[in-house]
Amino acid sequence: MPELIEVELYRKSAARAVGRTISSVTLPNLTYLKGTQGLDALQSATHNQNLNQVRRKGKLLILDIGDRSLGLRFGMTGRLVVDGKTPIERLLYTTPKVQRNHIRFVMTFAQGSELAMVDPRGFGNIELQPDETKLGPDAANISRQELGVSLKNSNATLKARLLNQQKISGLGNLLCDEILWRAGLDPRRPCRSLKERELDLLASSIKRTIKVLTQRGGSHVGDIQDQRRKTGICPKDGSELHRCSLGGRTTWWCPEHQR
Ligand SMILES: [Zn+2]
Repeated sequence: MPELIEVELYRKSAARAVGRTISSVTLPNLTYLKGTQGLDALQSATHNQNLNQVRRKGKLLILDIGDRSLGLRFGMTGRLVVDGKTPIERLLYTTPKVQRNHIRFVMTFAQGSELAMVDPRGFGNIELQPDETKLGPDAANISRQELGVSLKNSNATLKARLLNQQKISGLGNLLCDEILWRAGLDPRRPCRSLKERELDLLASSIKRTIKVLTQRGGSHVGDIQDQRRKTGICPKDGSELHRCSLGGRTTWWCPEHQR
């Protein structure tokens, strides 16, 4: 959280500022700036430059500024505020209130107003010239063939592989569990054990889940969301959900229909 659904909303919101000229950037805490290039490089790359385009790859929001790019990562609790408005009032693990010390990055425009990142936990970051090639195909657009390549011959569990941003980008913990629940696939299975028919199921579940949850308004409104707790039950068959840690994240699944 935020996962690709939330970052896509941020992208649409940031698109409002395309065409504006950047007058300054502010970072209250320099540790929020990732990568080898420091504040001086960031300021000279952005000062008096135009915001040309806003793109998204996985959970990375990319601002194309002049002939450079600036990547924004939202970590667990990051929100984007453009012209004082945010497309998401509240994330699952944070509060809606904006505190001054939670403002991590501000880009001010010559035409007035600003684009800011608010991130209470501070696990996000920004990076000049982020390496986009490190990210796998975006989950919202991944083809069946690309999915096969991403999972092929891997001994990693299905859940860990779907979380691995280098293999497929954009999915976080909640979307992964909902996708696998809908596809009826056990998250603990090694990827290499998947049959072609199961890969078809997974590919269509990824597309369908992203579409449905986007319409509902976020990664946190899946069908199993309310059941992600002790004694939570499967909405399909009433079995008690199981829990374990996979890929470093708490995973919930149904022992009855996820095989
Ligand atoms: Zn079930």
